[in-house]
Amino acid sequence: MIVPELPDDIRALKEAVGAFVEREVYPLEARIAERGSIDWDEAADLRRRAREAGFAMLNMPAEAGGRDLSMLGQVALEEESGKATNGLGFAVVDRGPRELYEIATPEQIERYVAPIVRGEYREAWALTEPGAGSDLSGLQATAVRDGDEWVLNGEKWFVTSEGPPGVYIVLAVAEGEQALFLVDPDAPGLEIRRTPGFLHDPYLDHHPEIVFTDCRVPEANRVPASGDEGAKEWILVERLFIAARCCGAALRLVDSTAEWAQEREAFGSPIAEYQGISFPLADSLTELHAARLLTYHAAHAFDVLEDRKVVHGKVSMAKLFASEMAGRVADRAVQALGGRGYMTENPAARFYRELRVDRIWEGTSEIQRSILSRGVFKRGAAPYLGWD
Ligand SMILES: Cc1cc2nc3c(=O)[nH]c(=O)nc-3n(C[C@H](O)[C@H](O)[C@H](O)COP(=O)(O)OP(=O)(O)OC[C@H]3O[C@@H](n4cnc5c(N)ncnc54)[C@H](O)[C@@H]3O)c2cc1C
Repeated sequence: MIVPELPDDIRALKEAVGAFVEREVYPLEARIAERGSIDWDEAADLRRRAREAGFAMLNMPAEAGGRDLSMLGQVALEEESGKATNGLGFAVVDRGPRELYEIATPEQIERYVAPIVRGEYREAWALTEPGAGSDLSGLQATAVRDGDEWVLNGEKWFVTSEGPPGVYIVLAVAEGEQALFLVDPDAPGLEIRRTPGFLHDPYLDHHPEIVFTDCRVPEANRVPASGDEGAKEWILVERLFIAARCCGAALRLVDSTAEWAQEREAFGSPIAEYQGISFPLADSLTELHAARLLTYHAAHAFDVLEDRKVVHGKVSMAKLFASEMAGRVADRAVQALGGRGYMTENPAARFYRELRVDRIWEGTSEIQRSILSRGVFKRGAAPYLGWD
């Protein structure tokens, strides 16, 4: 099956999330644009209300307090969260750390995953380093065993979290292999060195630089599975969500551009009558649809396909195409809106800035292209297309 229908319960949930975003988030965005900053109490309140509405932790297994939502279902909801600017969608569809849950010990789940599911705090993944981003094989952070402790040294960049996280999931080289460690934020030797500004600010998440200097972590905090595999699974899922959010953003942009083009007059006609405006809009619509099909196809493959290498390829196609599509759609929207498109009070201006990172984080467009070209050299095109 190339793209399955969404089941009725997912459709209803998607509609509810979409209505929530429109009702609760859009007014908040307008206040952020006016102030130029996020009101953290407002953001916390948004997260609480979304949780009460039943949108949080749905990806987690039922025994861990979730609904074990399929990846297809998660992607459908993530699209709705992507309609929000300023990263506020993250507070609406609040996902639990399923990838950590799958590989952590029962005691680690109790201590670190359960509080996240209860909404007490968030986790932050610390993989990237100043010298290792796309190529994580070049990691320099080390963990050296000392009795029943590990001693961490190294530097991590772009460690995304909304405010201080409850736990850092840190990738380091331990005894010649990559391993994940759960590090408490107040562990001696862990220092937040700097919180740089980013193009998408004001944004719900910050991305500080963190330094570990002889930071001691108990043996019980080493995740038993291979760190390499654990990190890859997290990155894979995030790529799909990026694709889905890009589709949600593009939908909002296409609709708002179409509305504006029919209202705005120039030279005696609505600008919608000029092909300079209407044709790019048609391109945006077409590219958005193609991106959605790729994203839903990849999500369905994630749910059912055994060959994980092929799943990775399908996810790369979705991430690559959807993130580049969203960039083009935002650019065309700003142009169609003229000067108003450049005002930050207009969602098009905010998306124009905010969507740029989707071509970079969790693997750049170039990295997706190398995954795909390697895959096609090895397996041919058919498996990636569901062409059998
Ligand atoms: C806002 C933000 C939030 C982030 N959040 C997190 C987080 O929470 N946790 C985390 O661990 N990381 C996070 N990251 C890091 C992110 O995943 C990396 O920035 C990304 O993977 C790229 O790595 P890099 O910045 O080191 O770029 P580099 O790897 O230095 O790449 C530089 C350029 O070279 C290109 N390039 C590299 N290799 C190849 C190749 N083989 N072929 C062709 N071109 C190539 C890249 O595509 C890019 O254009 C975040 C980044 C940002 C900007």
